[in-house]
Amino acid sequence: MRLNRLFVASWLIALIVSATTLMWSCSHRVHDIDTLTVSIPPQKFLLDAIVGDKMKVNCLLGNGADPETYDPSMSHLINVEHSLIYFRVGSIGFEDAVIKRIKTSRPDLKIVDTSEGISFITGTHHGHDNDPHVWTSAVNARIMARNMYEAVAEADPSNAAYYKSNLDRLTARIDSIDSAIKTYIAAAPSSTFVIWHPSLSYFARDYGLTQIALGAEHKEASVNELRRQIETAKASDARVMFLQHETDNRQTSIVTAELGIPTAVINPIDYHWDEQMVSIGRSIAGLTDIK
Ligand SMILES: [Zn+2]
Repeated sequence: MRLNRLFVASWLIALIVSATTLMWSCSHRVHDIDTLTVSIPPQKFLLDAIVGDKMKVNCLLGNGADPETYDPSMSHLINVEHSLIYFRVGSIGFEDAVIKRIKTSRPDLKIVDTSEGISFITGTHHGHDNDPHVWTSAVNARIMARNMYEAVAEADPSNAAYYKSNLDRLTARIDSIDSAIKTYIAAAPSSTFVIWHPSLSYFARDYGLTQIALGAEHKEASVNELRRQIETAKASDARVMFLQHETDNRQTSIVTAELGIPTAVINPIDYHWDEQMVSIGRSIAGLTDIK
């Protein structure tokens, strides 16, 4: 009888030890893959706010690079390979290439379309169905943040409450940026703005503005085309022209000189999404950031 009890006790200890080992190795395995990958810095801004210190966010595109001509390097692809989830923006060209190249090594990689549920604008970009610049909108940023939160909470349910409170804080921040921009726009001298590349289509839609886009995509526009665009811009009451670092070329300086309206340099794919959005709103209101 005594021997029997001893046997049961030792068997129980063995069971507990092996169960603990099993639990430890399971949780250990989950934390080996604590990296998430996004395509562009504004997505990283949103996702960093949601995951806090629980996960690392790897971003394919560097600040200042052009998402429409970007070709991911091998090291970037390796980072995607070691990720738990890849969050694509949705309509950016290089994303299909990344997914195609990663499919063989990581057929199980979870791919989330961050733009799921967004109402798209079409016809602004040749060869694209949807305008890819979805993130230049507070309305869309709320949807993107929620999509990312849902995928992260599903992948790591033990921290879901933490992610949810971070999402709530982020959403409140987006709301306050949105209302700040509305205040600026209400006081703006004009509801029309000129831009070298149509990267603010969603911003214009959110705030009832008219975007006049000049130039051609990734090449210099033909003289006749540019002449027509300049006449349209001149006939409008636009009070600002937006330029982006990577689209600065010989034609932009000719156009800015001819239009004679203030210019503002923006970087819509900058990591500091909040600052960029506010800066765009202030420039339209003629407040600051203008040269
Ligand atoms: Zn574009």
